[in-house]
Amino acid sequence: MSVWRKELITASLLLLSACIIGAIAGVLFPALFLVTLFLWVCQLLQIRRFERWISAGGKGIYPKTTGIWEEIYYHIYRIKKSDKRRKKKLRKMIEQFRQSTEALPDAAVVLRANDEIEWANKAARLVLGLQQSDKGQRIVNLLRFPDFIRYLKSGNYSEPVILPSPLNNRITLEVRVICYGSGLRLLLAQDVTQLKKMQIMRKDFVANVSHELRTPLTVLKGYLETLQDMDDDTSPLLTNSFKEMRGQTERMQHLVDDLLLLTRLETQQKKTQCIDVPALLGQICKEGDTMENASRRIELTLETAAHLYGEEQDLRSAFTNLLGNALKYSPDDSVVKVRWYQGKDEIVLDIEDFGEGIAASDIPRVTERFYRVENKRRSKIPGTGLGLAIVKHVLMRHEATLAITSELGKGSCFSCHFPLKRVCCSG
Ligand code: ADP
Repeated sequence: MSVWRKELITASLLLLSACIIGAIAGVLFPALFLVTLFLWVCQLLQIRRFERWISAGGKGIYPKTTGIWEEIYYHIYRIKKSDKRRKKKLRKMIEQFRQSTEALPDAAVVLRANDEIEWANKAARLVLGLQQSDKGQRIVNLLRFPDFIRYLKSGNYSEPVILPSPLNNRITLEVRVICYGSGLRLLLAQDVTQLKKMQIMRKDFVANVSHELRTPLTVLKGYLETLQDMDDDTSPLLTNSFKEMRGQTERMQHLVDDLLLLTRLETQQKKTQCIDVPALLGQICKEGDTMENASRRIELTLETAAHLYGEEQDLRSAFTNLLGNALKYSPDDSVVKVRWYQGKDEIVLDIEDFGEGIAASDIPRVTERFYRVENKRRSKIPGTGLGLAIVKHVLMRHEATLAITSELGKGSCFSCHFPLKRVCCSG
């Protein structure tokens, strides 16, 4: 029998007995009143006991009671017990998470809105110099690097920012921010000192080797020219060997020049000036026309007279490389279109050819150093595989991007997108 039913039957039996006894004794209503009062007082006492137990946190075993109240106590006790178990499990999980983040070799800091520190791991204390007591402090007051403050304010965290460690400026940190939850951000700082050192060593090595190769190559080329001049064409083998040797020496000279240019782009300080890009394009297209087969026609369209802040020599190299490629990788009689125009929020240079095009799988790789698309016909086309890497670097230095659209057999379009803030004169 359910406890509810038992409870009802007991109360009903009590009331019935009161009715019978009261009727026999001629005091029906007082008897009924007394029994009702008794039941009411009993429930009040139970409620008081319950209120006391629950207001004390419902801790420990519940008071001894019977009937429906025992049932109520039991249910609450059970809910509290399972709640306690869940809390314990959760606490254990949080502790394990804290231990794992504490053991992370990278610094991790949780930031609230307003850049306040919510939590930081051990590495953050060692690398960023944060203290336990810094909780609630604004991180920009503790890491006062202008680059970092600008990065945090920008809200654009797609790229990391490079900073020296505030504790030791010989340690280089790569800091990135990840947004999560509502208004929370996770700041991760990784020690990239060794990586940066290796990069500097690689740059120095390439620069030194390229520089050292320059003189012997010039000497070699000079002697080859003299030998070619002295050649009386009596031996075809010798004549061909001289030709081949000269071709290869020139190729190596191009390679060395491109490597030196790349090193300069990576290391040298920017020296910007206002450049008349339409005039520059005019010159390059003229050079391109004479340089390549005359039947190739370069169609130059200048829709805007915009000048740009930048480095003339570098832009010249980039545009010459793009135009040279368009001419190289398209048939002798096809048009190459060069268009300088204003797009939405940008100034664009399109160099479009109707040549052999690039396969979709090769497009993301053509700007890598030394990457050349494998092709029997192309292997005869001279090149170093460094041209587009130079273009990419030059555009990066001008806050511009390179977009490549291409279709095999139809042609390619290389677009350089410059931000409007780079415009120094609209003509
Ligand atoms: P390369 O000296 O070989 O031309 P680049 O870095 O300039 O080196 O170009 C890399 C590769 O991209 C080229 O070898 C070529 O396969 C491909 N490429 C570049 N421009 C074009 C183009 N306009 N049409 C087709 N393929 C191109």
